[in-house]
Amino acid sequence: MRANNRFDTIIKGGIIYNGEGGRPYPGEIGIKDGKITAMATSLGESADNVVDARGAAVSPGFIDIHTHTDDNMFSAPLGDSKIYQGVTTDIAGNCGGSPFPGKKWENLDNFFGDMSAQQNGINLGSFVGQGQLREFVVGENDVRATTEQLERMKSILELQMEQGAMGISCGLEYTPGSYATNEEIAELCKVVAKYGGLFAIHMRNEDDRVEESVAESIDIARAAGVKLQISHLKAQNAANWHKAPALLRQIEQARAGGLDIAFDRYPYTAFSTGMSTFIPLSERQGTKDEIIARLKDDTISGKIGEYAMSRIKRLGGPQNVVVTSCKQEDNKRFIGLNVEECSKLTGKDPWPFIRDLLIEERVSVSIIGFAMTEENVKMFLSHPLGMPASDGSVYSPEGPLGQSMPHPRSYGTFPRFIGKYCREESLMSVAEAVKKCTMLPAERLGLKNRGLLIPGYQADIVVFDTEKIIDTATFAQPHQFAAGINEVLVNGVWTISNGSPTGNMGGGVLRRG
Ligand SMILES: [Zn+2]
Repeated sequence: MRANNRFDTIIKGGIIYNGEGGRPYPGEIGIKDGKITAMATSLGESADNVVDARGAAVSPGFIDIHTHTDDNMFSAPLGDSKIYQGVTTDIAGNCGGSPFPGKKWENLDNFFGDMSAQQNGINLGSFVGQGQLREFVVGENDVRATTEQLERMKSILELQMEQGAMGISCGLEYTPGSYATNEEIAELCKVVAKYGGLFAIHMRNEDDRVEESVAESIDIARAAGVKLQISHLKAQNAANWHKAPALLRQIEQARAGGLDIAFDRYPYTAFSTGMSTFIPLSERQGTKDEIIARLKDDTISGKIGEYAMSRIKRLGGPQNVVVTSCKQEDNKRFIGLNVEECSKLTGKDPWPFIRDLLIEERVSVSIIGFAMTEENVKMFLSHPLGMPASDGSVYSPEGPLGQSMPHPRSYGTFPRFIGKYCREESLMSVAEAVKKCTMLPAERLGLKNRGLLIPGYQADIVVFDTEKIIDTATFAQPHQFAAGINEVLVNGVWTISNGSPTGNMGGGVLRRG
């Protein structure tokens, strides 16, 4: 090491997209001690590392504001599926679920402590999942929180915010978070607002009652005085596709009325969730054993089946629902097949098949549903308040995570957004697309020194080929890295070079601020 160099690393020969959405320009970036320390047309100096961008785009590393990466970092410390997209920061703990507070990790510091014991390729920040918090304090049942329980939730949440949580997330389609009253959620959001944190919501309903759910989300945020992020905005099922413009109007009006509101969306027309969402909320409370007992009870199961089949009908039929993960050896043959195909294979009707699978898998089955339209994806992504986010996780083709069939968004979101929607479909300029992947999410999260290429900011940087960047992961073969991502630096550490890992990692835990 030549410690007297002004820079550890210089990036040369690139076209700089600084994240603000303005015109790109040729220039060089000097990096020292993990930070950008100089930018100029020519720095005219040498450094230990010289990254030759060879005319490609140089932009801030992409920030994925909505992920479920959570404890997947322990199985894939490089953050493989993300860093190969140019993502340098993942925000975990979404849709009401976070790795803490719980038995394994009582708080954010405990979780981050374990993460810091290993080297990490990307930065990871986290929301506090309101469902997880409620389960920890109130339990899994459909009951009101007592005054004492609410105070306890608030004080635990306050501690997580002190430790650097990004805010709170809700998943009101899931239990037990959905058992909270809106007043209870607003009380928690007030704690988050005190710290300038963000309230991210997976709404109570994303199909037939989606307009009411947007209104409800806005009401909660207003009551608490908190910044609102609507997660994976959608109008699901053909019967609701026409509602997209109305949802955007609701959001615009709330913004005009003074609410700090925005939203994110993955660039795909299929969603991914748990098969347990085919069980009505009223029958989804309690322990897994209790839920399984209901599935085994002919009378209750019959009612659950009616609900499940009505939902599947709204989705367009069993051929639109694909099984993507199960754990039992016997059931792994269903992975990648749709429910219609599974029915034929087993000789069972769709509901008995689903019921038996849920029982055998102890309620944990992942599905993908094809229920959205391209037109709306484009409308949401091109809206000034919209930004791409994966709703996926860190995965790796190697190791245990490589055995599942995740939604391809975990591998493809950002390259697909830029390659398909920006380059091929001309929805916006590359500069505008980069802004949506960088400055916009950084602003929502209140990250003070990321999301832009400016001296003083952390050197989270991606070099990508604007002509080649594209996703390659598919529903049939999801574990495939994106194309066109040449170089990635995380906190100044050169982690991907010429599309391959260098073996050096510079990521780590990310606290708010
Ligand atoms: Zn969600």
